[in-house]
Amino acid sequence: MRLPLIAGNWKMNTTVGEAVGLVGEMRQGLDEVTGVEKVVCPPFISLAAVKEVIKGSSIKLGAQNLYFEEKGAYTGEISPPMLADLCEFVIIGHSERRQYFGETGEIVNKKIRAALRARLKPILCIGERLEENEAGRAEEVIAEQLRSSLSGIDSVDSLIIAYEPVWAIGTGRAATGGQANNTIGFIRHNIAQLYSGDIAQGMRILYGGSVNAANAAEFINQLEIDGALVGGASLEASEFLSIVKRASEVNRAR
Ligand code: PEP
Repeated sequence: MRLPLIAGNWKMNTTVGEAVGLVGEMRQGLDEVTGVEKVVCPPFISLAAVKEVIKGSSIKLGAQNLYFEEKGAYTGEISPPMLADLCEFVIIGHSERRQYFGETGEIVNKKIRAALRARLKPILCIGERLEENEAGRAEEVIAEQLRSSLSGIDSVDSLIIAYEPVWAIGTGRAATGGQANNTIGFIRHNIAQLYSGDIAQGMRILYGGSVNAANAAEFINQLEIDGALVGGASLEASEFLSIVKRASEVNRAR
């Protein structure tokens, strides 16, 4: 049994005060939901303050990125050991980082290695762009992203994958549950080939891309889908709570 996971990616939203307010609004409701791992990923500068608010609750904390070096002259960057002190999860390879900050498969690979060294749990984001999808190349692109991101990495026990078709992120145009389920099944098959069937069966693979309270059940109900990485809807306490509740209901029904 894979424990469902719902992670909220707040992206570059919220001041420290707003982040504290938002997580404060969510805290009690999220804490009452069982059978789901709940993670919030605020901006770096809010991690410490949010950590204080969620102390003693079942809500977990993640970062949205990291740099792969441990320390040194890398002005403006945040290292894995700095994060390991504050949080448990880290999103790596989000399509916005690939698109706006030039993150390649090689960089993503270094970041995954660095996160694992620091005992952070990486949430590796992969997914095809619209033109790749329309050209029927989704599986080829995803297989290559998996290969390059995980190249030379032996142990992936704590790794989580988020399948996020780029055309579905922030667009309001989500994939269908069936499409996402098929692609996630394909990802699991690739993990079985790269590692083993047991590792693939144990790995949590999430869907991300315009998930909201109204469509969450469609994804979470699918057998291959182990939860969601939620962007826009995670900035609304009631919306995020509803998504987490849907995941809990599905988990209980399975
Ligand atoms: C994301 O940023 O990972 C994401 C899935 O965003 P949204 O839910 O807004 O599409």
